[in-house]
Amino acid sequence: MKKIISFFIIIGIGLLFTACSLNIDTNVIVASTYPAYDLTKRIVGDKYEVTQFVPNGQEPHDYEPTAKKIGALYDAKLYIEIGFGFEAYTNSLPDEIKNKALTLSDGIEPLYSHHSHDHEHDVEDHDSETVNPHIWLSIKNAIKMMNSIVNKMVEIDENNKAYYEDNYLKNKELFEALDIKYREELQDRKTNYIATTHEAFGYLCKDYGLEEIAIMGITNADSPTASELAKITDELKSKNIKVIFGEASESSSFSDAIASSLNIKRSSLNTIEALNDLTQNEDYISLMTSNLASLKEALCNE
Ligand SMILES: [Zn+2]
Repeated sequence: MKKIISFFIIIGIGLLFTACSLNIDTNVIVASTYPAYDLTKRIVGDKYEVTQFVPNGQEPHDYEPTAKKIGALYDAKLYIEIGFGFEAYTNSLPDEIKNKALTLSDGIEPLYSHHSHDHEHDVEDHDSETVNPHIWLSIKNAIKMMNSIVNKMVEIDENNKAYYEDNYLKNKELFEALDIKYREELQDRKTNYIATTHEAFGYLCKDYGLEEIAIMGITNADSPTASELAKITDELKSKNIKVIFGEASESSSFSDAIASSLNIKRSSLNTIEALNDLTQNEDYISLMTSNLASLKEALCNE
């Protein structure tokens, strides 16, 4: 079915592209997803209109844009994406769009999914498909990503170089302060393990010496089998895990089942992949600050 849809998208794109050409005088910068949007907006400010390609409320990992939506990318001055396979639709983008994209994972050291590495017999997983794409959940990476954005903005709009660089420095300072706060507040933790549902927090864990045990894989669709679930439950028990982190927006049946069978608490961490009704007034900094409070409560209390 997916192949058929992709075929029609490609046909549709072909028809659209005969009608439009690359527009370099436009005022619009398109960011693929919320994390790309938030970081871009911090640098670009009001110099361009920044829009978000995958709407909030949609699951970015398996979003399938319409041909019309892809066609509209031709009218953008710049398209900014996360990369590392986060935007699954990237393969269906035409070369002209891919070539003008700024890919924020460029220059970031990849981490790989524990899930696919643990599955010895899973021949479907290749390294290129199992890179963990949730790079922005490392504050240090987020600073690097803003650095890529500022360099690109200076390149395409040199007249406003000082404005972009000033925005970068102000935000870098905010992000560095948050990174220090994480380090300080997690210092007195009783354990290094965090149990999560969606395997999204590897980059965050690496920054602070934590280790993630995830029930599902790097997309929310990778559900565990019954035997995997049993194995993970044993692992949580042997590591004396007291809290399991889910997300407010996801289906919680697996984490509920595990939490009740082990009699442990449930808490939540936000992947910051997309905003929803509850988080529409939040941003990267406020969501990462809430995440720190949840981590501190789970890891530092006995
Ligand atoms: Zn994700």
